[in-house]
Amino acid sequence: MAIKSHTAPDEFRDHISTIDEHGKRVWVYPKKPKGKLYDYRKWVSYGLLTLLFIGPFIKINGLPLLMLNIVERKFVIFGILFWPQDFFILVLAFLAMVVFIILFTVIYGRLFCGWVCPQTIFLEMVFRRIEYLIEGDYTKQRALNKMPWNTEKILKKSSKTAIFLLISFLISNLFLAYIIGIDELKKIIAEGPINHLAGFGSLVAFTGVFYWVFAYFREQVCTIVCPYGRLQGVMLDKKSLTVAYDYGRGEPRGKLRKGQERTDGDCIDCHQCVQVCPTGIDIRNGAQQLECINCTACIDACNDIMRMIDKPEGLIRYDSEEAIAEGRQWKLFTPRVMGYSAVLMLLLVALTTLLLTRDDAQATILRTPGQLYQKTEQGTVKNLYNISVINKTNTNMPLTLKLHNTDGTIQMVGSELVLPAQGKADGVFFAEIPQNQLTGMNAEIEIGVYHDDELITTQDTKFLAPAK
Ligand code: SF4
Ligand code: SF4
Repeated sequence: MAIKSHTAPDEFRDHISTIDEHGKRVWVYPKKPKGKLYDYRKWVSYGLLTLLFIGPFIKINGLPLLMLNIVERKFVIFGILFWPQDFFILVLAFLAMVVFIILFTVIYGRLFCGWVCPQTIFLEMVFRRIEYLIEGDYTKQRALNKMPWNTEKILKKSSKTAIFLLISFLISNLFLAYIIGIDELKKIIAEGPINHLAGFGSLVAFTGVFYWVFAYFREQVCTIVCPYGRLQGVMLDKKSLTVAYDYGRGEPRGKLRKGQERTDGDCIDCHQCVQVCPTGIDIRNGAQQLECINCTACIDACNDIMRMIDKPEGLIRYDSEEAIAEGRQWKLFTPRVMGYSAVLMLLLVALTTLLLTRDDAQATILRTPGQLYQKTEQGTVKNLYNISVINKTNTNMPLTLKLHNTDGTIQMVGSELVLPAQGKADGVFFAEIPQNQLTGMNAEIEIGVYHDDELITTQDTKFLAPAK
């Protein structure tokens, strides 16, 4: 790859590194990374993978930690059940998340991509490492791909494919567990594919997609598919934290020659940073390149070289474009970062409050259509109502109803109202109010819904009465 100086025109931004001028894919063979940051990333990924795999088994009050059942429109987040009726909370949560992501990215750049994103973790920390184990480092992989089919190639390729397929199948199960819940998934496995053709079909389809993504499509997900990746251009600015090459210190780059006094910059043009890059770019072309997922592999590679040539580490480092240009270190605690972080905290607090103060049940009470009112001999007026309540918890709840802002009684028609766990209950009742309590023909009344004498939700409705 031709190396451009930082002063060269930004023509490398006109095309992506993994597609050639004929539109054909350029396969990336990244060198196996090693170094301090790579080791930290490994530990972070072990933690996140453990969380991801045990997530479906964790239950809070009998509900999963996370379940996004789009088919049945049932969502559980941190053990809190959301119904379509909670749509506004989900929309608010989504908006808060979008603002959070934007502000986080403006400050910390693509930290998420390099350290937390499941695509990066699965590709770099699972699939790629298995590939290194079976096929060897990048030079051996390239040679293997070029060699004709022989026993060695067949063995290596088939064992890699089998392991990739197996892991893809595991991820596919995991993915489905987050959609339909672990109990439903266990049922599909226990009762066999014949009884659950749709569920089993989804497992096979997801396995195929994951295999294709991690075996072939790879870094293209980040470069051309991921919306978060595509939006980096508008979210980042020159103050954002990014993986950057310190061209002030590195340029003019030049090979290290024995016995010659060095007048060039610290970059010895060894290409180690380019060789480890999983997206096939040269970080020295400039910070904030579309393809860069901030994986830190080039930082580790360059630090290795700097130690070897007895220069300070950090020629490639986490920094901002502005700090590099001004020859100073990126500062975390600037007024701008503190302001943005305060907004992020406010958003998190607002969202948490919204979730924690949400009612356990939601009631809809409407006067029964076609019914007026009934006057009784005891001087009261009766109205007939339909009630529909949904349960947002995992507990069965026998319910009682009480009038809140007026005297009077409520009598259920038929059986008592019992709200099943995660379910819905419908009922019919009379509200009976002394006529002297009623001020108009269309009074506003408030009905409280109680479980074990504890108010779980209230609902306003109209009460019809005769004119005085
Ligand atoms: S340029 Fe560096 S940080 Fe960016 S993707 Fe390549 S190796 Fe990772
Ligand atoms: S690894 Fe460091 S020294 Fe080597 S080419 Fe990259 S920036 Fe220059």
